[in-house]
Amino acid sequence: MMRTRQYAQQLDQEDTLQHFRTEFYTPNNTIYFDGNSLGLLSKRAEQFVTEVMNDWKNHAIDGWTLGHHPWFYLAEKLGKMSTNLVGAKPEEVIITGSTTTNLHQLTASFYHPKGAKTKILADVLNFPSDIYALKSQLAQKGYDAHTHLIQVPSADENTLKSEDIIAYMTEEIALIVLPGVLYRSGQILDMQRLTKEAHKRGILIGFDLCHSIGAIPHSLSEWDVDFAFWCTYKHLNGGPGSVGGLYVNQKHFGKTPGLAGWFSSSKEKQFDMGHNLTPANHAGAYQIGTPHVLSMAPLLGALQMFEEAGIENIRKKSLQLTAYLMDLIESELAAYSFSIANPKQDDERGGHVLLLHPEAARICRALKANGIIPDFRNPNGIRIAPVALYNTFEEVWQMVHILKTIMEKESYKNYENKRGVIA
Ligand SMILES: *Cc1c(COP(=O)(O)O)cnc(C)c1O
Repeated sequence: MMRTRQYAQQLDQEDTLQHFRTEFYTPNNTIYFDGNSLGLLSKRAEQFVTEVMNDWKNHAIDGWTLGHHPWFYLAEKLGKMSTNLVGAKPEEVIITGSTTTNLHQLTASFYHPKGAKTKILADVLNFPSDIYALKSQLAQKGYDAHTHLIQVPSADENTLKSEDIIAYMTEEIALIVLPGVLYRSGQILDMQRLTKEAHKRGILIGFDLCHSIGAIPHSLSEWDVDFAFWCTYKHLNGGPGSVGGLYVNQKHFGKTPGLAGWFSSSKEKQFDMGHNLTPANHAGAYQIGTPHVLSMAPLLGALQMFEEAGIENIRKKSLQLTAYLMDLIESELAAYSFSIANPKQDDERGGHVLLLHPEAARICRALKANGIIPDFRNPNGIRIAPVALYNTFEEVWQMVHILKTIMEKESYKNYENKRGVIA
């Protein structure tokens, strides 16, 4: 029963989020499972871009204070719209910068080596950009990354254990930066527990939410996390290079940001044009220069859809989709030496499934040739992200059956087993 296409169709009929699907553009009738790399464009996001362009057209300089979405307050407004996604107070969130620049800002602000506490703790599985940023921040302070960046190892190369991370929280650690959800295996780290353990040892801790925001709920304030940062072009569907976001716990308000600029100012003081910064008394202080208004505009529509759908409902459907996908892989593809490398339990599984196969690169090429868009990760990983707002159970069913045909007919052998420039 579960294996039939009719069953998938029935799940779609019961899906309370199904009406969002028609709001998205899916290129050329493809089945798009790459929303954790670049989310799809929605009609609403497109409309808000037009609105912001019209404000520019009609108001020019006065668009900063007039028009539909006065630009001077847009970062704060979008921050407020993001609070339910991260579980924070409105003043604790700001839309600004990018993942990597926000990490630079937050490290410059929260990494204060002192006495024996001089090292930064990260992990071996994080996205390269985060590690590059941490290494360069260490160099800025005159430390050698070889001795001062400690990376928690992974026993299976896909996941991390809380116990291991905690064991690395030694007296020498000043700051911890970890992902909320690992970009490759989709593992959710226990942010609440890790924060508690870090604080017991007097260590500040921040999380990269690139793969968790929009996929799983968070309670950053309640967990007492010190800071977090994320991009908005993956699960949040903000578009290529859309402006990122950050969270700073209110207990840290009122400090001067590590990297200051005039948009770090309190709004009332900013146009006094004095040479002594009065930082905003909220997360807005971690902005630097003029906001990238045109790259924020799509978020007005994209975040509105998350407000309407509710992150709890999105998470519920996402878990159902990935569970269904794993079940079908196990029942239909058992003969083809795929292994599922993401955690299988609900409380540890993020928004995507990681399939491993030695021929992964060319299997992905064959899938693409058959209208399925997966995501290849070097050297042997296929990430499949069925996204709650726009993917269907029937698409999951179709994907598994197309993949089964590719394996049966060995049609992947028509392609070279290597990655493209962007993979
Ligand atoms: C996507 C991603 C990034 C990308 O950083 P940008 O500054 O947005 O280019 C960084 N870190 C992680 C964990 C990511 O998943």
